Amino acid sequence: MTGPSAGDPVLRLRALEAGYAGVTVVRGLSLEVGAGEVVALLGPNGAGKTTTLCTISALLPAKGGEIEVLGAAVTPRTRPHRLARRGVAHVPEDRALFSQLTVRENLAVGGARDRGGAALAQVLDYFPALGSLLDRRAGLLSGGEQQMLALARALVRRPRLLLVDEMSLGLAPVIVERLVPVVRRIADELGAGVLLVEQHVAVALEVADRAVVLSHGEVVGEGAAADLARDQHLLAASYLGDAAG
Ligand code: ATP
Repeated sequence: MTGPSAGDPVLRLRALEAGYAGVTVVRGLSLEVGAGEVVALLGPNGAGKTTTLCTISALLPAKGGEIEVLGAAVTPRTRPHRLARRGVAHVPEDRALFSQLTVRENLAVGGARDRGGAALAQVLDYFPALGSLLDRRAGLLSGGEQQMLALARALVRRPRLLLVDEMSLGLAPVIVERLVPVVRRIADELGAGVLLVEQHVAVALEVADRAVVLSHGEVVGEGAAADLARDQHLLAASYLGDAAG
């Protein structure tokens, strides 16, 4: 077993600057995610959460600062597929499923074939509802089922760092309350470190160990999830971008 032991950082950001050509969106972001830990990255629309995840997974080059994933630096030369091979799984906001392929085929593309059925059995343990949908095309699934499949596809690759962007987008609250705790289980049982971007702040804080709140690309609050859940001012900042203090 060469993976990090519980608590070892699987992600370290130091003074990260991130953005797009000509525009810096995230400034001075430092955070760590340990193996087996869930860290929620909160903040209102446009705070820079998606930009942060895309920069960590090397879909965007960082503009400054340092990113260390599983003990190695992520640089502008790092290719996303190499990070993926080393154990980084990124579940993007749009879920990135192959809508014309079946559930089973989407999982196979994710790597479920590699472990002779064991990966599929594990997926069905986490998401029993996918069992009766294996031969259905992904494009015909409900939003909640699609999100399960997106997470399942990450799961079959046995991630050591899981980046989850807005899994609740467009889903009914009752589905969100059922799905978000799955990332806690992935952290607890598989030892993955999870960075969870989520608009449903209360649900995110229930499953997270710690949280970082971004507003306009800068950290306006951070701490233990249980403490933040009691901080009404900071919660307002997570939704609305109010100045927290
Ligand atoms: P949301 O919940 O709305 O996705 P977010 O916190 O994830 O919010 P980002 O998507 O990271 O925010 O966007 C941060 C800022 O970067 C926004 O002002 C957005 O307009 C800008 N932005 C996003 N994508 C691009 C792009 N391709 N080019 C230029 N600016 C962009």
